[in-house]
Amino acid sequence: MSYDTVVVGAGLAGLTAALRLTERGQRVMIVARGVGATHLAPATIDVLGYLGDTRVGAPAGSLAALIAASPDHPYAHITADQLATAVTWFGAHAAALGYSGSVGENMLLPTALGVPKPSALAPRSMAGGDLRGGGRFLFVGFKGFKDFHPALIADNLVRAPLPLPITARALELEPPSSRLGDLSGRVIAGRFDADNLTDWLVGELENRVEPDERIGVPAVLGLRSGDQTWQELEKRLGCTVFEVSTLPPSVPGIRLFNALTAALRARGARLVLGVRAVGAHANNGHIDTIDVANATGTVSHAVGSVLLATGGFPSGGLELDSFGATRETVFDLPLIGVPETDRVRFAPNYFDPQPLASAGVPTDDLLRPVDANGHPVYTNLHAAGAILGGAIPWKEKSGTGISVASGYAAAEAILAPAAQSVSEAVR
Ligand SMILES: Cc1cc2nc3c(=O)[nH]c(=O)nc-3n(C[C@H](O)[C@H](O)[C@H](O)COP(=O)(O)OP(=O)(O)OC[C@H]3O[C@@H](n4cnc5c(N)ncnc54)[C@H](O)[C@@H]3O)c2cc1C
Repeated sequence: MSYDTVVVGAGLAGLTAALRLTERGQRVMIVARGVGATHLAPATIDVLGYLGDTRVGAPAGSLAALIAASPDHPYAHITADQLATAVTWFGAHAAALGYSGSVGENMLLPTALGVPKPSALAPRSMAGGDLRGGGRFLFVGFKGFKDFHPALIADNLVRAPLPLPITARALELEPPSSRLGDLSGRVIAGRFDADNLTDWLVGELENRVEPDERIGVPAVLGLRSGDQTWQELEKRLGCTVFEVSTLPPSVPGIRLFNALTAALRARGARLVLGVRAVGAHANNGHIDTIDVANATGTVSHAVGSVLLATGGFPSGGLELDSFGATRETVFDLPLIGVPETDRVRFAPNYFDPQPLASAGVPTDDLLRPVDANGHPVYTNLHAAGAILGGAIPWKEKSGTGISVASGYAAAEAILAPAAQSVSEAVR
C-alpha cells in the first residue's frame, strides 16, 4: 500500500500534522506504538509559559527573546506567522472542545496542585478558571477521587503570585455509591456519560454557591459528554463553572485525542495503533519505503514523505541505553542536546535543570532532521513535537505549543513541493 505521507506517532504533533495533510487532500497513514502524551497531559495548548524563571504574559511577543537565548529551539524554525496560524487553525479544528484563547496572551489556569499555569489556548470548559482577573472561587472535589484535593488547590492559589488577589474555598462532595473504593478520573467521567451525576452535582451545589463565586470542578465531566455537561452546569447553576486539569490520566486529553482521530477517520486517514516503525529504505537521500513491524512481521509501505513524531524519552522516540548511549530509535538520526560525558547526564535533584532535557533531533527550517553540516539526512523526512531538540518543554511550559506549531509547520513543508509542482504543471 502506498501513502502520500506516513506519520509515525499518534501524539499531538502527529495528529496535528496528519489532520492538516488530510485537509489538503493527502492520503495519510498514522502508525503508532500506542497513544501519546494526550492521555496524560492537560488539553491546554501551552505555547510559552516561562522564559527562564519569569512567567510569560504574551507568548508570541516573547518568542524572539526565547530564540535569542536558545538558538537551537524548535520555535527558531517556525515563523511567528506560522505559529499564530497553526494555533488558530488548531483551535478551530478541535471544535468539539470549543477552544478559546490566542497566542497573544496567556491565561492563568489553576492546576490540581493549586499552581497558576500559563496557557495560550484551553477548552472552553476550562477557560472560566482564568485567574488573571482575581475574584472569588469555590473548588469542589469528589470523595474517593485520588490526587485531587480542593483544599490544597484553594490554599495554594490564594498564596500564589497573581495579578489581582483572589479568595478561594473548598468543598468535598461524596458522589452517590462511591464507597466502593478509590475512583479514577476515567471512572467518574464514565459515570457522567452514563448516569445522571449532573443532577446530583447541581442538587449539591445550588444552595451552597455564594454570589459572584466561580466553581472549579475536576476535569472529569464526561469523556463523550464533557462539553455538554459543563454547559448544563453553568446554565442550571447560573454561574461560571470550569474544569481543573487533574493528574494523569487526563480526561480532556482523551477527549482531544478522540476528537482529532474522529476527524482524521472522517477524512479517510488510516490510523494503526500497536505497531512500530523500525526503519526505511532510501535512495540518494530519499526515503522510498518505511518498514512497520506488527505482531506477525514487518510490512514495507511506499511513501512520498515521512513525518517523525515519536516524542522524546517517555514515548520511545529517544532511548538511553544501559551503556549511557542516547539514540533516536527509528532512523538513528543525529542528536543535539546530549551531554558529552556520562557524569553530567543527570543533575542530583529532580527539579534541577537536567542535562538531557533538551536532547532531540536538530532540523532545518523545513523541519527536516539535519546532519552535523546542516544538510537534511533525508530530503523527504520531517520531524515534529517532542522529538525535536533544543527545548526544555517542562520548564518553559511549551510542550503542547511546540507539538501543534511544528506539526502544522511540518505538514506545510511537506505540502509545499506538491503545491509547487501543481502550479508548475498549470503554468
Ligand atoms: C503527565 C504529563 C503532563 C504534561 N503536561 C504538560 C503541560 O501542562 N503543558 C505542556 O505544554 N506540555 C505538557 N506535557 C508535555 C506534552 O504533552 C508533550 O510535550 C507533547 O504533547 C508531546 O507530543 P508528541 O506528539 O511530540 O509526542 P507523544 O505525545 O509523546 O507521542 C509520541 C507518539 O509516538 C509513538 N511512537 C514512538 N516511537 C514509535 C515508533 N518507533 N513507531 C511508531 N510509533 C512510535 C508513541 O506511541 C506515541 O503515539 C506533559 C506531558 C506529560 C507526560
